[in-house]
Amino acid sequence: MSNTNTANEFDAIVVGSGTSGASVARDLSRQGKKVLILEKGNNAPLKDTFMGIASVAKEIAIANSDGKIPMMGAVTTGGSSALYFAVADIPPVDKFQAIGIDLTDVVEEVKNEVPLAELPDEMIGNQAWVLKRSADELGIHWRKKLMMIDQSKVNGKYAYEARWKARSFVEDAVAAGATLENNASAERVLVENNKAIGVEYKVKSGLFGSTTKKAYATKVIVSAGTLETPMLLHRSGLKGIVGSPFFCDPNFALFGLSPEAHSENLFTGAMNSETEYLNVGDANLSRLLYKMVMLTNFKLKHFFNYEQSLTVGVMIRDGLAGQLSADGKYQKEFTDSEKKMLKEGEEKGRKLLEKAGAKHIFRTNLSASHIGGVVRFGEHLDANLETPFENLHVCDGSILPENVRNAPSLTLICLGKYLAKQIAPSL
Ligand SMILES: Cc1cc2nc3c(=O)[nH]c(=O)nc-3n(C[C@H](O)[C@H](O)[C@H](O)COP(=O)(O)OP(=O)(O)OC[C@H]3O[C@@H](n4cnc5c(N)ncnc54)[C@H](O)[C@@H]3O)c2cc1C
Repeated sequence: MSNTNTANEFDAIVVGSGTSGASVARDLSRQGKKVLILEKGNNAPLKDTFMGIASVAKEIAIANSDGKIPMMGAVTTGGSSALYFAVADIPPVDKFQAIGIDLTDVVEEVKNEVPLAELPDEMIGNQAWVLKRSADELGIHWRKKLMMIDQSKVNGKYAYEARWKARSFVEDAVAAGATLENNASAERVLVENNKAIGVEYKVKSGLFGSTTKKAYATKVIVSAGTLETPMLLHRSGLKGIVGSPFFCDPNFALFGLSPEAHSENLFTGAMNSETEYLNVGDANLSRLLYKMVMLTNFKLKHFFNYEQSLTVGVMIRDGLAGQLSADGKYQKEFTDSEKKMLKEGEEKGRKLLEKAGAKHIFRTNLSASHIGGVVRFGEHLDANLETPFENLHVCDGSILPENVRNAPSLTLICLGKYLAKQIAPSL
């Protein structure tokens, strides 16, 4: 099917232009393959403003007997990378090796294609140093994280434009010949005789209208993100997705006010302390995000005192449990040992803030960092990220296995590149 001139026939259709989809689409396009990227969101310029964030943010909630647990993502070209903090972890190559996926070479290639470094001391805000001092005094090992930040674009301590975003990879793909169709929501993958042959999708027209379209391809890659991919696969006839247990890395933040903070607009997450099951870190937010969080939590004293703000984030590694139901709803309860981990994290976080002289400390409700474990290797996917439906591949956060619990973005870029290498020879 290579280089067909038919308008709706492609070598590959990539559903979703987030971190993973952008990576696979870019590499296939650069190898001369004819690629269609379907993206539900629009391509309006990204803006680090209240309206800019609100216009792309999407939230789903995990039902839990203690209250709903929200999980955020973004619907726009480049997906959730429009909102992420750009904290990076090197993919655990050994864990992927164990399931037949060799990421060794792609990790090295990706390191040269995205900005990746710890922030130099002078780019880390004062409030982050105050927390580091607390951690040192409490004997907590506090270390810098890798960040995907183009330091040449930072004049000061923070610049939204400096964070690597998947949109830049989509732009590379389009420059190499890919077609990007925005406002295009995939309804289902077209499957014939157990083989994927294309995608049916709806394109928004006007305020309320839409047109249903079909496009065909040798390969279909679903990269619609954890908020959407499982249900898209279910709607397309893949068995065993509904009922799947999942992990969600529940997290919360502790906010306090300290006269020592002298807070400055900064990148979030530059330092932390991690154990096997608990991540306690610097969650000091940029001024805009901080104000948005204080408004939604009705904390006026905090709202007006950004300069005194100190914030610690706490995240635990929960196990696979709960389920995704046929109507697309996630439900999960935490075990006693997971509740104990959350309590341990809260105590550690409060100590860090108190040591830094913080008062007026409050804790946010739980949110989910990312949902994973839903689409499973061995059951739904092989080492080519191919489903039991031939030519239907999945590449996004929904396929991350339970033992891969790092900051996912760099791993997802690598998986996208890996998948492009696996399938390009057959196109
Ligand atoms: C506030 C926040 C902070 C974060 N911080 C970090 C961090 O510091 N480090 C880190 O590694 N990770 C972080 N993450 C997580 C990270 O952003 C995501 O894990 C990652 O971007 C997921 O990539 P993805 O390809 O799986 O999906 P996404 O990036 O979500 O992309 C999915 C894309 O598919 C599109 N789509 C959905 N449904 C359809 C459909 N039916 N048809 C067509 N298109 C569709 C969506 O619009 C979207 O563009 C953060 C996330 C958030 C929200």
